[in-house]
Amino acid sequence: MIIARTIDELQKVKREFKGSIGFVPTMGALHQGHLSLIHQAKEENDHLIVSVFVNPTQFLEGEDLDSYPRREDADRKICELAGVDILFMPMIDQMYEKDELCIGAPAIRGYILEGEKRPGHFDGMLQVVMKLLNLSGATNAYFGKKDAQQLALITQMVRNYFMDVNIIPCEIVRDERGLALSSRNMYLHGDEKERALCLSRSLKRATKMVMAGEHNAETIKKEMLNVLSDADEVEYVAIVDREFNALEEVEIGNTIILVAAWVGKPRLIDNIWI
Ligand code: AMP
Repeated sequence: MIIARTIDELQKVKREFKGSIGFVPTMGALHQGHLSLIHQAKEENDHLIVSVFVNPTQFLEGEDLDSYPRREDADRKICELAGVDILFMPMIDQMYEKDELCIGAPAIRGYILEGEKRPGHFDGMLQVVMKLLNLSGATNAYFGKKDAQQLALITQMVRNYFMDVNIIPCEIVRDERGLALSSRNMYLHGDEKERALCLSRSLKRATKMVMAGEHNAETIKKEMLNVLSDADEVEYVAIVDREFNALEEVEIGNTIILVAAWVGKPRLIDNIWI
């Protein structure tokens, strides 16, 4: 495995590639959720690039940029074992210059839910993903459904800018008790680990209601909020279609139910696709 810290190093190795390139962008502190994307990309492509870059432009003032978990050595070993060809860990000055040309999130879908709570987050996310997709030359790029709105916006960016890459959505990986894996879960301590389970429990409850024939979004959200009483603060519960338009009634095969809540230090998100 080659570790590339500069654009030149990345391009030099990439030039030798013949065949399809799978790409998995991450912010590191890799866990089984990331690994499932990496394994899928490995299986479906001739070459595999993983990036680890904690992108400052997608963190808002006061967010956890400085304390975001960094596990470089472990990440390197995990990637090596997984058969990654290039681990791209760029230095910040490789990625940005002053007075950059910026692309922005769409005015509506980029400013609801995560975009409303974290205004500007998606601008920074799209900016870095655009750069990374261009740099990697990916044939197929893999993103988790865990960050459903992010995935929808990246898919839109690729469509709107006619980018030549396939965006592959990957299933959410959970621990044995249902908690969606996240690098931020390591901030959970004591009873917070137990209380954090209320997010996935609320989604299970919603799914059960839908399966029992209850399709009214307001009724489902109200019940979810009851289940979420173990969280310290619920930021939103939402029922949208796959394009992130709010739904009054669940449409089987075209619905995402989402939740964002604070439990102790971390802000957690989870969702289910119905
Ligand atoms: P991050 O390092 O948090 O930016 O995540 C990098 C990629 O891994 C994103 O596409 C995430 O959606 C995906 N990812 C993170 N956690 C999970 C999970 N539990 N299951 C599936 N994909 C995930």
